[in-house]
Amino acid sequence: MVSLKRLAVFFAMEEEAMPFIQSLSLAPDKDFGDSKLPFRYYRGRFKSSFDVLVAVNGKDPRYGVDNIGTEPATLNAYITLRQYMPDLCLSVGTAGGFQHKGASIGDVYLSTEAFRFHDRRIQIPGFSEYGVGHYPVFEIEGMAETLGLKKGVVSTANSLDYSEKDWEMMKKNNASVKEMEAAGIAWVAHLLHTPLLGLKAVTDFVDSPEKTEEQFFAHFALAIKKLHSNLHQVLDYLASIQ
Ligand code: SAH
Repeated sequence: MVSLKRLAVFFAMEEEAMPFIQSLSLAPDKDFGDSKLPFRYYRGRFKSSFDVLVAVNGKDPRYGVDNIGTEPATLNAYITLRQYMPDLCLSVGTAGGFQHKGASIGDVYLSTEAFRFHDRRIQIPGFSEYGVGHYPVFEIEGMAETLGLKKGVVSTANSLDYSEKDWEMMKKNNASVKEMEAAGIAWVAHLLHTPLLGLKAVTDFVDSPEKTEEQFFAHFALAIKKLHSNLHQVLDYLASIQ
């Protein structure tokens, strides 16, 4: 395990991040990052164990919605990792799960194997594996079992829905959860040699005839509640193994 002095936690959406920021009484840090960008940062300490920085992607200035997807995630990860130099990072948020893999709404998955993309298809030798990414996942032995978290591959793409080809790649990726940021963060974490783990709560089923967005809204509150209770347990666990 790393000696943990600084932990960075990445969220794409404000509604995903706020309960955590409030429960830890983290304070906004307006001087962190680049003031020209919409990203938001909150800092504080977890008990007497380690410093925490929460990085949220903020709102798009033109459309007024959360900056979800890989571009904001990647840029924010770069700024955060360079300036804060965390010993460990977490990519936290909601995701689609797979009924055929035994997922239930509200299940919280801890990343395993590798972070992968399922929408970067490049049929040129060498580039196809580069497209998928396979960025390292930092695994903490025994944590998922102790905390009752499910374990699975986090697979990333820039769409809430998916094409037939995405589906095939998710299968090849052994995806257990599908979301829109983790692999983008993982690329930066890999380049900057910073361990990263993913914690993702299931708001919707990918393999369901119901519309993803309808499922997402119906289950968001429940998934967020579970996500935050598990996130606290993860932080407690990290503190306990220091
Ligand atoms: N429609 C929502 C926001 C988009 S949901 C709103 O208006 O509030 C997409 C966000 O949730 C992304 O940040 C993504 O990482 C995550 N997510 C949840 N379920 C997903 C799924 N089935 N596929 C892709 N991303 C998903």
